[in-house]
Amino acid sequence: MTSLIPQSYSASRDRFRSSRDRIVLRWPASRIETHVISADKDDLSIDILHAPATERAQHLLLVTTGEHGIEGFVGSAIMELVIREILPTLDPTTTSLCLVHAINPWGMNHGERTNAANVDLNRNFVTSWDPPPQANNGYRCLRPIFQPQGPMPSVRWNRLLVASQVIRLSVTGKSGMLRQALLAGQYDEPEGLYYGGAGWQPETQVMRRLYDSCLNAVPHLVHIDLHTGYGPRDSMSVVNSSLDPVRSREWAQRIHYPNVVAATSEEFYHIDGDMIDYMYRMHETSAPTGAMYATCFEFGCLGDSLLAQIDSLWRTVAANRLRQHGAVSEAVATEVRTLWRESFCPSEPSWQEQAHADALRAFRGILHDQGLTGE
Ligand SMILES: [Zn+2]
Repeated sequence: MTSLIPQSYSASRDRFRSSRDRIVLRWPASRIETHVISADKDDLSIDILHAPATERAQHLLLVTTGEHGIEGFVGSAIMELVIREILPTLDPTTTSLCLVHAINPWGMNHGERTNAANVDLNRNFVTSWDPPPQANNGYRCLRPIFQPQGPMPSVRWNRLLVASQVIRLSVTGKSGMLRQALLAGQYDEPEGLYYGGAGWQPETQVMRRLYDSCLNAVPHLVHIDLHTGYGPRDSMSVVNSSLDPVRSREWAQRIHYPNVVAATSEEFYHIDGDMIDYMYRMHETSAPTGAMYATCFEFGCLGDSLLAQIDSLWRTVAANRLRQHGAVSEAVATEVRTLWRESFCPSEPSWQEQAHADALRAFRGILHDQGLTGE
């Protein structure tokens, strides 16, 4: 099977926009809404395909991709797979669709996780900025590791240096603290890692309006948000919100998919300003009588062994250092960019095949459980 991973942001967007020609055959009122997010000369937008049910809408399937720009390449491949394999199994008389291409188009176009202002959009969905989110003291303590100064030096030696710093923390029993300090998000260092911003970003504002209308549009919403990066390499993780009341083990049985975890520090990691948590909070306040299941598919790329986690941290630190301070040579810059891309979009064909198989299995399981397919 030829790879469904697109070569560029614009190729991905073109394919997505042209998919309307296929979808309109069963959902005749399908239309594409475009929100321009242009921080520079590039032509960038969030593209949303709305396909209303043809009779009485009972369900809405919402699929979102590219919240973390660079993860949108695999997200785009899975979206295409969903259009080809999953949509034909749905009933257009009762099911509406809302498909979102690239929540963070700047990041996808530039091969970054964050947006043009270095904001991690999945730390930006806080419900209020007054008072501002709590300070992340763990991040402050470990700032010298997360934000080294000066241009990116030789990859080989720098990798060893960061590995030795992390192993020293592990020996003193602080590696768990490091993971949480990093991934929870921080709101103090605009040039740092996992920065959640100081206000809602333009991308977040577009999505908040969309989610508001989705929550009130139909009695039943199913939202699947596609990410890559963390978790085991050989099995996609269904990562539920910590606010979902059903336990992971029960979900695994219901959807016939084994790898289900909740976004808590015990099972995965906890996040401030998480988009799926935001959905649960909004659902509770704005549409409490409707039903909703919102979750995230996380396709692990480097793996979850200790060594893989150290490597993942190093790549994150190195890529941010390259962005903020440049590199000592173009060769170092290219090497860092290549390693960075592989941590969100592995080129190995067998990884892509496994990702497709897992995505289809979990989609089918969820849609069946939620009553969108089958008896
Ligand atoms: Zn992500």
